[in-house]
Amino acid sequence: MHKLPEPLQVLVDQIARLPGLGPKSALRCALALLKWPEAETRRLGKGIHDLRDDLHLCAVCGSLAASDPCSICADPVRARDILCLVTDWDSLLTLEEGNFYTGQYLILGGLLAPLDNMHPEALELDRLRSRLRNGEIREIVLALGATVEADSTATYIRNLIAREFPGLKVSRLAQGIPLGAEVRFMDRETLRQSLKYRQEL
Ligand SMILES: [Zn+2]
Repeated sequence: MHKLPEPLQVLVDQIARLPGLGPKSALRCALALLKWPEAETRRLGKGIHDLRDDLHLCAVCGSLAASDPCSICADPVRARDILCLVTDWDSLLTLEEGNFYTGQYLILGGLLAPLDNMHPEALELDRLRSRLRNGEIREIVLALGATVEADSTATYIRNLIAREFPGLKVSRLAQGIPLGAEVRFMDRETLRQSLKYRQEL
């Protein structure tokens, strides 16, 4: 490729570090930015610059927010006795979008995966412990997904709670047949889980 003018090359190199963007698409982005009105490129630049200053980690739930505690943890209307444990911030956002959960959250920061160096110390277990010590929480809902890693993490946390906070109720999201699906099209594992977590009618 023809050598780019240096200021453009610097920008292309930076953009190319973003997920999903290679050098070619980075160049396309940089050229598109050149066509933006100056006020808008300045606003984008300022937005990126201010991000670190203006975003906080909520000390209560561990999510990214404009304030600490975040608006969810500070909301006086939400139930204070139920705590939903999620893997990451994206999961919290997805649950919040549904508007059906009105309790508290805690972001675990990952799942146990010893081969990927995800050991218990890598998870926010101390944040969980200090959250449970204040005694408000009566039930923990594990919303960690349905993978092997999620399963072993759920088992680990269930044991931790049984050991350190006996009497606390631990539940998990139901696993089974998705809405609108037919039994004959289900995979064996989903069917096995649905049978295992069957509900009384
Ligand atoms: Zn929070």
